[in-house]
Amino acid sequence: MSALRTEHLLIDGEWRAAADGAVIEVENPADLSIVATVPRAGEADLEAALAAAERVQDDWARTPAWTRSELLRGAARNIMDRQEEIARLLTQEQGKPLHESRAEVATAAEQFEWYADEARRIYGRVVDGTTDGVRIEVRKEPIGPVAAFTPWNFPVMLAARKLAPALAAGCPIILKPAEESPSACLAMVRAIQDSGFPAGVIAAVTGDPAQISERLISSKVIRKVSLTGSVRVGRQLMQLASQNLAAISLELGGHGPVIVCDDVDVAQVAQLSARTKFRNAGQVCISPTRFLVARSIYEQFVEEFAAVARDLTLGDGSTDGVDVGPMCSRRRHDDFAALVEDATSRGAIAVTGGQSLAEAHGGHFYAPTVLRDIPAEARILQEEPFGPVALLIPYDTLDDAVRIANDTEYGLAGYLFTNDLGRAQLLSERVRVGMLGVNSYLVSTAVAPFSGVGLSGLGAENGTEGIEHYLHPKTVVTGIPTELS
Ligand code: NAD
Repeated sequence: MSALRTEHLLIDGEWRAAADGAVIEVENPADLSIVATVPRAGEADLEAALAAAERVQDDWARTPAWTRSELLRGAARNIMDRQEEIARLLTQEQGKPLHESRAEVATAAEQFEWYADEARRIYGRVVDGTTDGVRIEVRKEPIGPVAAFTPWNFPVMLAARKLAPALAAGCPIILKPAEESPSACLAMVRAIQDSGFPAGVIAAVTGDPAQISERLISSKVIRKVSLTGSVRVGRQLMQLASQNLAAISLELGGHGPVIVCDDVDVAQVAQLSARTKFRNAGQVCISPTRFLVARSIYEQFVEEFAAVARDLTLGDGSTDGVDVGPMCSRRRHDDFAALVEDATSRGAIAVTGGQSLAEAHGGHFYAPTVLRDIPAEARILQEEPFGPVALLIPYDTLDDAVRIANDTEYGLAGYLFTNDLGRAQLLSERVRVGMLGVNSYLVSTAVAPFSGVGLSGLGAENGTEGIEHYLHPKTVVTGIPTELS
């Protein structure tokens, strides 16, 4: 595992270097060593991926759903057969603890299992016409070749979330994994390709993100764009997609509110919340971030939460017993540190953490941080921190809690803890998010839609809704005689 890996592009069924041989280095964020190189795809490589997608699109669209389904199921099996290999690569280049990496690979396989079934359930419908002598069918057809862009925080699972529904729907897909953590994603793509997909149906290209997105999306071949990433990049890709009016789905950031009511078991909720918060060093779009806690239980909540945060073991994710790894990159570490620094310089109190451990640990480490007394003007209350920080905020009335929860342009996941059914019902109607966990943090599942409102995105992934974004409804009106002759 310590040898430098050389990754390849997947284009038209072949794994190959970039045409001009250019590469990008991949770093281990725990010790800053270089662990791999990936090709920097150039014009000729992207052209070849587009040409292959264009060539195979009709054949792939006409491939029977049962055949597509079998291929997806084979992909799920291959991913699980290689779970350990993929998980180790993931930890090495992304930093998360190995047990989290193994779980991520398993959820990627689940995507393929779920969409193997959905591929066989793409139903059209038959509609009565407004006059006699016609029959109307609505068929669901694949939308066409897809360009997909996935980020570095869950590089395996989030790529599976786009690959599986696109392939199930009958669309070729060109995937650009994140350059920060590409090897695990490429290892998963290899497992998928090895289950027998025809050449050209799946491509994986690494390199300069702006160059790749511009080249792919400005091509008339691409009919659908899907991004998981930041609002900044979402806006850029939406503009690019407007040239040829390609469809687009965006899964962007969040600023997860958690309303904790005064009727809960405080220790239990605080401990569960702290363990959830620092998963993947807080680099999770649905991470709980703003904990709005009833004032009567606030002090106890802070104490219990901070005790768990202080107890977490920081280190290289491949070491047994590590709870929190490094942040994925220097860039993310520095942006995050600046946001915490802005809050503390304005008067926020770090109950624990609040400092970088990069020098002490020799990687992009930051201490699990719990902030209280955060002034209203602190940037961290509006900007997504995307790192290991919890903001603990007391509230006086539930109306206040809802107002604070909704006081952001994001609306991805929110959470609510109460044992009162009436409160749960009313609060669940008022919190403005795409997903809400009631007494649970488990809102991300292959079987139900994952979506945001406001700046958190456009369209839904997962569930039966997830495949719809890769399909186009075609209406076929057939004139028929009005009498049997
Ligand atoms: P970023 O947008 O700079 O990078 C995210 C990913 O987008 C990168 O891995 C990169 O490969 C890709 N990217 C960057 N520029 C691109 C371009 N022009 N075309 C195509 N792809 C491009 O974000 P960041 O600075 O790494 O993270 C900061 C913010 O991004 C976070 O606060 C969060 O809101 C958001 N984010 C969200 C998720 C998510 O799971 N929803 C994941 C990562 C980042």
